[in-house]
Order: sequence, then structure tokens, then C-alpha cells
Amino acid sequence: MNQIPLTLGEKIGFKKQPRGFSTRAIHAGQDPNQWKSHAVIPPIVTSTTFAQDGPNEHSGYQYSRYKNATRNSLEQCLAALDNAKYAVAFSAGVSTLTAILTTFESGDGVITSRGFYAGNFKILDAFSKLGVKVKYIDFTDSKNLKQALDDSTKMVWLESPMNPSMTVLDIQLLSEIVHKNSKAFLVVDNTFLTPYFQRPLELGADVVAYSISKFIGGHSDIIGGSISTNNKEFYDKISAYQIMIGVVNSPFDSYLINRSLKTLSVRMEKHFENSYAVAKFLESHEKIEKVNHPALESHKEFEVAKKQSYGHSGIFTFFIKNGTLEQSKTFLKALKVVICGESLGGVETLASYPWLMTHGYLKDEEKIKAGVTPNLIRISIGLEDVRDLIDDIENALKSI
Ligand SMILES: *Cc1c(COP(=O)(O)O)cnc(C)c1O
Repeated sequence: MNQIPLTLGEKIGFKKQPRGFSTRAIHAGQDPNQWKSHAVIPPIVTSTTFAQDGPNEHSGYQYSRYKNATRNSLEQCLAALDNAKYAVAFSAGVSTLTAILTTFESGDGVITSRGFYAGNFKILDAFSKLGVKVKYIDFTDSKNLKQALDDSTKMVWLESPMNPSMTVLDIQLLSEIVHKNSKAFLVVDNTFLTPYFQRPLELGADVVAYSISKFIGGHSDIIGGSISTNNKEFYDKISAYQIMIGVVNSPFDSYLINRSLKTLSVRMEKHFENSYAVAKFLESHEKIEKVNHPALESHKEFEVAKKQSYGHSGIFTFFIKNGTLEQSKTFLKALKVVICGESLGGVETLASYPWLMTHGYLKDEEKIKAGVTPNLIRISIGLEDVRDLIDDIENALKSI
């Protein structure tokens, strides 16, 4: 066994990955014996309806919005990756929050932060109009959470690492505070790390949520989302609401996501290795002021990251030294291998400019409050040859 080389995470001191993840990613929910044909790969079942032996004498499948065999295989695999009992796959990452909020009543409280995925704010605004009480707090000081919790708090929704600051929150600590001081459930959006690098249920979270459109899908060609949990009551309710509001993914997408999961561990290791190399390169570059990458020793929460995660993915941010809006634009336009675009988590490296893109709709003061300045660049490192990426970035930096 000792010929097995250490992973990058193990070398840097992150949690040691227990065995079995890749095996589950390839086999969980995929048992060939569940199909008459013994297909090794789950078939794409496009049928919306299923023949019944007589009225209400069905095989468990009646109508594909309720239950679909391709989606079913996917949900079993997703649950296994978080060592969870249950998973529900959704049509988009944002549908996970929508489905949860649909189960709420007027007066129910949510605690979250402006430092998380900005697309969620609009959903929360819409539900605020229906009486859901939303509090935005700063989770970096855990006292704020303790103060914000009250009898009406139904859900605490957090994300770590945060975007774009890459601030790492101590999930175990926050989970203890939630559970000691309230009856609320804790949801962790784990999109940036995937179940390969972080499993929030192990740290005390009640629910883990994903945008599958990012690293899990991994090829920039699927929109999807999911949640995993061990709480049966939560699962029963959320799967009933998923079916009711119809936020299910198509059999084709379910198949593609299933296929993506089979290579998740291999892709994530490479995303990490490449992003670490690029981050180290940038950190030593004279035109770079600061690099926010949780696996760098210079990162403020490096110790927390190592304690709770198995490594880091391809996403990080950096600041160009004294960089102006014009210089940032020149840099992004000079990149030839790296593509300037929204989103993250694909095989291709994507650079984005939060000032004009993800946070462009905010006023300048609000952007600065959220840590978004004109010299901030966000990058999602893909699986290209890392030497080509470093050369490309080095050349683009020469142009400013
Ligand atoms: C993209 C993203 C979402 C939303 O997911 P969609 O699949 O676009 O609906 C939620 N959380 C995070 C952290 C994201 O990056």
C-alpha cells in the first residue's frame, strides 16, 4: 500500500481522504441488476408514463415528474458521495433554495449572508414579500450568529469558502451554535468544494446543497442542483415539494451528471493541483498584491480549511497591485488560453471580473463592502496543462 503517492491535500496537511469515495462515485446507484438488460450504465429513461398492471397497480414508477429511473440512480449516487441517506436532484442550484423556502410559512426566519452566492438574494427577496423573515449577518464573528438566532429561525444557510473573498467559515463551530441555540436546520452550500473535498454533514450540517452546474457537472454543459441529508422528515418534505413545484432535472441531464460523477475525484485532484500551482505563481509575482486561495499558508483561515476539508478546488481570487478598472480589463482581454466568462468548475479555465460581472448590479460602495474592488480577478482553474496556464497569465500580466 505504501507505494500509493500522497495527494496534494495530504502533503499540505488537509484531512486525509478515507478510502472509498471514487468507488462510490462509480458504482453507487448503478447496480446493473436493477435493469432487465443488466446495463452497466444507467439507461436514459425518457418515458413520462409507465404501464400499470391494473389501476394503481404500478412498479413504483407512474409518471416521470414523480420518479424517474435515471434520476433515481443519480440521487442514490449523490447521497453516497456525502455518506448521506438521501439526496434529491433539482433542475438548478437555485431550485434547492426555492424548494426549501416553499415549505416555509409566513413568519419563519432565515439567517444568511451577503457574502454568499448573489443569485440567492433575489429568491430571498421574493419570499420576504410573503412573510419569510431574512437576516443577513457576518458569519466570520460567530457571536453575530448567536445573537441573530431566535425562536422563529427555521434555517441557517451558509457557504464556505465564501465568494469572492474565499473566507473559510468554521462549519463545525457554527453548526454547534445553531443546534445549541435554536431548532433551526443548517444548510451548507458546498458548490465550491464538492463532496470530494468537503462533506459538511460530517461537520454537523443538517443539509448540504449543490449547484451541479459547476464542479460536479464539471464540463460547463449542464444546469442542475441537489441536496443531501440524513434527516428523513426533511427529505420527505423536500422531495414532496420538489415534485409538487416540478423542479426536476431531465433524464438526459441526469444521465450526464451521473457520467460526470464517475470522474469527480480525478478532476478535483487535478483542479486542486493546477490551482495551487497558479496561486503560488501569482503570489510570487511582483504585479500581484494578494492571492486568496485557502490552501496557501498566507490565507487567513488556512488552519480552519485544513481542519475541515480534504483539499481545495480550482476556484480562487487575486488582486492586481494598484490595479485600475482599465488594467484589469486589459489583463482579461490579453488572456489567450484562459477564457473570460461567468461561472466556474469546468474543464476549461475561466477568469471573471466581479466588479462588472457577478457584482456589477451593485452600487460601487456596496461592491467595496462585499470585498469587490476594481483590481479583483476571480479565476476557476481548469484541467489544461498548467504550464500553458501560467505562461498565458504571465504574458497577460506583461500587458499591464
Ligand atoms: C452557481 C451557484 C449557485 C446557483 O446554481 P445554478 O445551478 O446556477 O442555479 C448556487 N451557489 C453557488 C455557490 C454557485 O456558485
